[in-house]
Amino acid sequence: MSKQAAPVKKNETITLTFEDLTHEGNGVGKIGGYPLFVPYALPGEEATVKVVKVNKNFGFGKLLEVKQSSKDRVEPPCNVYYQCGGCQLQHMSYDLQLQMKHNQVKSVMRKIAHLDHVPVHPTIGMDDPWRYRNKVQIPVGERDGELITGFYRMRSHEIIDDMETCVIQDELNDRSVHAVRRIANRLGIKAYDEKKDRGVLRHIMVRTGRETNETMIVLITRTEKLPHKEELIRELTETFPHVKSIVHNINNKRTNVILGRKTNVIWGEEYIYDTIGDIRFAISAKSFYQVNPPQTKKLYDKALEYAAIGSDDVVIDAYCGIGTISLFLAQKAKKVYGVEIVPEAINDAKKNAELNGITNAEFVVGEAEKVMPQWKAQGLNPDVIVVDPPRKGCEVDFLQAMIEMEPKRIVYVSCNPSTLARDLRILEDGGYETLEVQPVDMFPQTGHVECVSQIVRRDV
Ligand code: SAH
Repeated sequence: MSKQAAPVKKNETITLTFEDLTHEGNGVGKIGGYPLFVPYALPGEEATVKVVKVNKNFGFGKLLEVKQSSKDRVEPPCNVYYQCGGCQLQHMSYDLQLQMKHNQVKSVMRKIAHLDHVPVHPTIGMDDPWRYRNKVQIPVGERDGELITGFYRMRSHEIIDDMETCVIQDELNDRSVHAVRRIANRLGIKAYDEKKDRGVLRHIMVRTGRETNETMIVLITRTEKLPHKEELIRELTETFPHVKSIVHNINNKRTNVILGRKTNVIWGEEYIYDTIGDIRFAISAKSFYQVNPPQTKKLYDKALEYAAIGSDDVVIDAYCGIGTISLFLAQKAKKVYGVEIVPEAINDAKKNAELNGITNAEFVVGEAEKVMPQWKAQGLNPDVIVVDPPRKGCEVDFLQAMIEMEPKRIVYVSCNPSTLARDLRILEDGGYETLEVQPVDMFPQTGHVECVSQIVRRDV
């Protein structure tokens, strides 16, 4: 191994030309072959950079001044973009964001899945890639005795208190957060103090159905009691007719987890509703629900196209959550079996099936890797399997069970291209072929990308 020292030193200021982007969206520039990763730098740019970390084979820099700017550099519309860290790509044009995500998927298909020739389609983007999030969870703090709300400064628990608005949030959510803060402040409700584990209001969570404009406000307190509850409810509901539900959640633990165990509906309905396509969803305070439904619709339409389900087909939807994909599949299939580890999600899935008059979907609580072999032992022979695992991808046992079930087609929905590529390799080695991969931009302005891929059995 080479003992050669890195060609730069920590704290040194250098001029660097950028040629590439990492998967996270950092600029990559090289000095004598040694790569430096620099947040907010773009390919084609020349900039002065302070070296902040020097590892053996690569280092990190801080962007000081852009001397030659890329045509893809844009002014971030958010006033706290460089402090917040919630978004990583606001400084680049939306076209470049989509292209970067496409390149990332192509690269892992080559490097991890060893699928050099699989077609990876251009990323499906949004016409208007702003204000798409339907849910916000925002910490509450105090400054000079006044309540403040804002996201944490990058890598800290310090609230950014001059955040005017969150430009990827639904405007109704933004306005509702401000209203709660203003009213709670006037009523003298104290913020939770994380360091001392004292005080009351920890977080404000708001979710709005994009299609229905129904809003749910969740107030999360350390205390069992929500002070001035009645006044707070009255003022909120008088000012905001779109508020359909107000929920009090109690979290008395010293933890980063936002929601506590106890949830009480203190005004209005237990659920708000939203629709994706022609399916209606009931969403409670603790339900998982996709944050960007219009893009979710595009993703699911692709998944359905890839699944190519006939009316006699039996389908498994693994990692089904609240049954979002299952219910779309059930409209076409003979029967759909959903499996999911979170019991509350399965309750929601059953409720959502009922709400939509869908009777050919069955939902089971359990680990997909355990339930699949049981289903196989019981003689369940699915024609198509759809999977949508969390970021860590599928367990090997699960993939093996899937291969042994010999479905004609597999549709793999993934929020992490690297684990998708790893799992596609295993499926390829098990007799399946990946026909195509479609990236979908579910989270514009951030480095995340969602993919759906169509996989078929070779001998069919
Ligand atoms: N398909 C759903 C949810 C996908 S998110 C939708 O589109 O809404 C991934 C889901 O996998 C989560 O709901 C998570 O709870 C679940 N999950 C995680 N590990 C699991 C496991 N080992 N077995 C089954 N489900 C699991």
